[in-house]
Amino acid sequence: MKPFAYVNPANEKDAVAALSPEYEKALPIGGGQDLLARMKDYITQPDRLVNVKNLDATVKPENGGLRIGAAMKMVDVADHPEIKRLYPAVAAAAIQVGTPQIRNQGTVGGNVNQRPRCWYFRNEEFVCYKKGGNRCFSPSGENQFHAILGGGPTYIVHPSSLAVPFVAYDATFRLLGPRGERLVKAADYFTMPTRENVERENVLQPDEIMTHVVLPPPGAVKSGHYEVRYKAAHDWPIAFATVLLSMNGSTVQGARVVMGAVAPVPWRSKEAEQALAGKSVTPETAVAAAEAALAKAEPLSQNAYKVQVARTAVERAILGAAGLPVD
Ligand SMILES: Cc1cc2nc3c(=O)[nH]c(=O)nc-3n(C[C@H](O)[C@H](O)[C@H](O)COP(=O)(O)OP(=O)(O)OC[C@H]3O[C@@H](n4cnc5c(N)ncnc54)[C@H](O)[C@@H]3O)c2cc1C
Repeated sequence: MKPFAYVNPANEKDAVAALSPEYEKALPIGGGQDLLARMKDYITQPDRLVNVKNLDATVKPENGGLRIGAAMKMVDVADHPEIKRLYPAVAAAAIQVGTPQIRNQGTVGGNVNQRPRCWYFRNEEFVCYKKGGNRCFSPSGENQFHAILGGGPTYIVHPSSLAVPFVAYDATFRLLGPRGERLVKAADYFTMPTRENVERENVLQPDEIMTHVVLPPPGAVKSGHYEVRYKAAHDWPIAFATVLLSMNGSTVQGARVVMGAVAPVPWRSKEAEQALAGKSVTPETAVAAAEAALAKAEPLSQNAYKVQVARTAVERAILGAAGLPVD
């Protein structure tokens, strides 16, 4: 591993002061599980690490919602009574991340900002778009876990489990940099790859840190969160979904349907939301909405199976939100 300096700032301002205006030169480190692995694999070689795991890790009420410190551990998110009560899909996503060891070490900021798990990106031999190269290796390579929505030019899937319910609940991220704070909606934070901006997955600038996640009052929504994995632990989901329903009696007044592990960003499906609006939730309407969510899927050579997996996740998240039997 390349030698690097380690800065242990006393507060968020000092943390920002230790960053750099150049990407990859100085990086915040939370639990270090993603960052240190990338450094050991020569994918990321910063000159300086800036410890952010001693910054705010509390949960405080804010305007009827909650403000979560980015240094909070996932195990604490999963266990927090107010998060569980107001945002059950956030707690459900947190408790399924990896393993108890990963949840004990991983922070909210690190989870949301972890880099893609694509094996071409993670292998120094493959100089892909994300590392300044001129191609994505997945369309003609091993692509069984890659994107089925979004259409490239890279086919990574966003790796964060928390990002999906954060988009569904319309969370705002507080970012701090030398120019002050920025509040960015989760839905605007994650960026689709384009030829002009293919290397990064979000709008965080190299001299900024994420300090908080602000969740607005949830209102009277019912939520469902369903993840499909090869194995129960120690892996990322193949596909998953968070669904929020606002009901008028037994009729869906409004829905939020967001899928994970299917695209380079948490993928909101307005098609599925429209399919649910004005209907009662039944096994049939759940299937129809799930069909709508995946209608535009364009699988690669080895991941067509993910289309049905993602449909199942959406269908079960809808049924779960409506309090109907899931499987
Ligand atoms: C076997 C296995 C299974 C896993 N399964 C899942 C899963 O199911 N779901 C899931 O979501 N994850 C999963 N993970 C990934 C794991 O959850 C992440 O690696 C972890 O959440 C990262 O958190 P961390 O605090 O250790 O991040 P770090 O490694 O410290 O940081 C990750 C990245 O975020 C940046 N960063 C950290 N904090 C901040 C901040 N405050 N502001 C801005 N940038 C910041 C760092 O610079 C770095 O680039 C799994 C990992 C393993 C090994």
